[in-house]
Amino acid sequence: MRYENSDPCSRMQLGLAIISACEERGMIPLYPDTVKEQVYRLDCGNNRVVLVYTTVVTMSAREVGTDSIKVCAVYRNSDMKDCGIGKAKHRVHRVGQVEDIVKRMLQRIDQVAETIATSECCTDCGAPKGLSKAGNLYCLEICWKPKAARNQAPPRRVNYGRRTWWRGRPR
Ligand SMILES: [Zn+2]
Repeated sequence: MRYENSDPCSRMQLGLAIISACEERGMIPLYPDTVKEQVYRLDCGNNRVVLVYTTVVTMSAREVGTDSIKVCAVYRNSDMKDCGIGKAKHRVHRVGQVEDIVKRMLQRIDQVAETIATSECCTDCGAPKGLSKAGNLYCLEICWKPKAARNQAPPRRVNYGRRTWWRGRPR
């Protein structure tokens, strides 16, 4: 059946289809009982997970028509920091037949799982590598640094008046 965002029945149909597809794929909901967007997790071993931001809230696809399903992968390092290690090139837009939307979501999940299974790991400690802002791959355990130095505060931002130029993003 064709997905119709303005129809509550259609949103529930898609919501239930997404949930059951994720569960059949062996994924686990991050929020067992939630009023916000449900996120499903696929464990890929070595502290790596694929996350699916489903747009599903209490069984129904969210009403915002432009919402799309996002699939990404995260590595949790030994400092309990979650680091992005990959994401689907394209979001899953909720247009077309319900079963096609679900099929595209499952394809993205497989793509991301495959990417992280074959991605480069640190030759010193085996942890996955992440991409720095400068575009270089680096070990996500920051294993070249002594443990004590890792949790140091980041360098102070220099403020000129109320604006901050640090990384060019006002916060
Ligand atoms: Zn390392």
